[in-house]
This record gives sequence, C-alpha cells and structure tokens, in this order.
Amino acid sequence: MSDPSSSAPEVRAAARAARSALERVTNRRGRVGVLGSLNADLTVTTRTLPGPGETVVGDPLVVRPGGKSANQAVACALAGADTLMVGAVGDDAHGEMLRESLTRAGVDISGVRSAQVATGTAVITVDHRGENTIVVSAGANGTLGADDVHDAADALRAVSVLGLCLEVSDPALLAAQRLVNSAGGTTVLNVSPLREVSAELVADAQVLIVNEHELAAVVGSDPGREPADIAAALDGHGIGRAVVTLGAQGSVAVEAGLVVSVPAFPVQAIDTTGAGDAFMGTLMAAIAAEVPLGEGAALASAFAAVAVTRRGAQASYPGQPELQEFLA
Ligand code: ADP
Repeated sequence: MSDPSSSAPEVRAAARAARSALERVTNRRGRVGVLGSLNADLTVTTRTLPGPGETVVGDPLVVRPGGKSANQAVACALAGADTLMVGAVGDDAHGEMLRESLTRAGVDISGVRSAQVATGTAVITVDHRGENTIVVSAGANGTLGADDVHDAADALRAVSVLGLCLEVSDPALLAAQRLVNSAGGTTVLNVSPLREVSAELVADAQVLIVNEHELAAVVGSDPGREPADIAAALDGHGIGRAVVTLGAQGSVAVEAGLVVSVPAFPVQAIDTTGAGDAFMGTLMAAIAAEVPLGEGAALASAFAAVAVTRRGAQASYPGQPELQEFLA
C-alpha cells in the first residue's frame, strides 16, 4: 500500500489478517499440488481491442510464462508453500521457458512431462485501459489425462492441498480429485475458464474459488455482490466452503457458516492478467498452513494487488520480502 495509515479501516484490518496469515504460511508448510495447464502467454498491447473483422496495430509481441495452473503454482510457491506442479509441455522453447519460471519460483517440476505436441499457448490482447481478450490453444495441456494422475499418484497422495482449474480435461481432474480426497487432502477447484463441467467435480471439491460470472454459472443465477446474498446462494447449492472474487471490489470468503468480506487493496492497476490465479495460488498456500479462509483471502488479496500493478501473470508476482513490505 502506498500509505497504509490513510487507508480505510477495513483495508488496515485486512493487512493485519494478511500479515498473520503470511507468518503462518512461513512457519507451517503443508505441501500443495497443482495439476493442470501451462501456457506461453503471447501478448500484444493495442490502443483498442479489435472487433470482428477488424485489424489493429499493436506494440511489439511479448512472450511470458502463463497458464492458469502454472500461474497458481508460481504464486503458491512465492507465497511460501512447498509446491508441486503436475502437467505437460511440448519439447520446445516455450516449454523450457515455463519449466524455468516454475523452477525459479521454487516449484517442484518433477510432475511436468514432455508431450509430442506444442506447449499450450494463450494469445492475449490488452488495451490501454488494461481490458483484455484471450484465446487459448491447449497444445500439450490437451494430452493430460487420468494416466498422468496414475503416474504421479504417490506424489499426489502426499499433498495436503490440491489445486485444479478447468484448462485440462475432466478425466484428469476427476482422477486427481478422487485420489486426493480419498487420501485425506483438501481439493480446491477454480471453476475457470467457464465451460461445461462434470457435476461430480464441482460437488466433490472441498473449496470452490469463483469470480462473480463463474458463481452465477455454478448457482444458476446472479446473486449480486452482497456478502449475505452470495453466502445464501452458495448455501442453497450445498457449497459450504468457497471464496468469490469480485475484482477491484475484493472478495467474499464463506467457511463453516462464517461470511467474511475482504477488501481489495487500493493500488494503481496496470494489467489484471493472472490476478485470479495469483489469488488462488496464495490462498492454497494459506489453506495448507491451516489458516482460516477469510485470513487466507486477505493474504491472497494483498498478493494479487501487487500483481496487478505490473504486466504479465507469473512475471508480475511478488516474492515474500516484497509482500511483507507491501503489508508493513
Ligand atoms: P479473475 O481474474 O479470476 O476474474 P478477479 O478479477 O476477481 O479474478 O481478481 C481476483 C482478485 O484479485 C480480487 O478478488 C482482488 O483481490 C484482486 N484484484 C483484482 N483486480 C484488482 C484491482 N484492480 N486492484 C486491487 N486488487 C485487485
């Protein structure tokens, strides 16, 4: 925060909760597994986003490490958790870039295998206001299946938290979720990017992470942004443990009947690519340290706030020293 003393009381309270959560993450290390996507993000910044049939001129192409699951794994490790990534990349330069980015953040990449197809790619355009459009080509991520879960079974049984999102196939996600649930771990599902999904996957996830659009899809109607309405909508669908992210409006955490409204930290947002992933990865680090969901969401909010002040996804994520400084 630029000047915490001038911040609203709820922001100062969130900073206190985040500091306490960060301390617990540092002192208690349950292992987090993330199974899913790794992508090369190919980004061009334009003045305005092109409409259908339109051509616009952009700035030079920038290639950065991304993919929802890889982003989440990097955030989780940078927040301080012992983190394992399970996924697939092509035998190409983008795959090498992704392995390097994960390794630099401290993620164990022994579960990342090489596939005979190109590394997954996201083609991103960002306009001068920070709005973006994203087209994803699955590439190697599309080869991830139940066999990969079988191959990584011993490592996955040892995690205390498993993070999943919808950029890989349901058979892989279901196999991993069943394995970790039956081994006594906590499975965390990010219902993103929105698509048709197995009802079992949603029903058996122990923690759901959704933004407001994803929440509306999961519960079948838009409950709006009031914490009590969000909690009622989740409860009506038998979802007892969830965090709903609301962009610059913050987030709402629901756990054991407790509803906690967490503010976003006031920052100058430059690029929100990967903000949701930054949030989820940090939250998983907190869950692995048995931090209550509301406090974990405060830490995740701080981590994501720093991330949106810089361009890129993984490239924008802070390490622990910077996070501590932001919260000081
Ligand atoms: P998604 O990218 O999945 O749609 P959100 O946009 O809801 O996710 O962002 C996730 C979290 O990132 C938010 O709950 C908030 O804590 C943080 N965040 C997003 N945008 C901003 C912003 N402009 N300023 C500060 N924090 C932000």
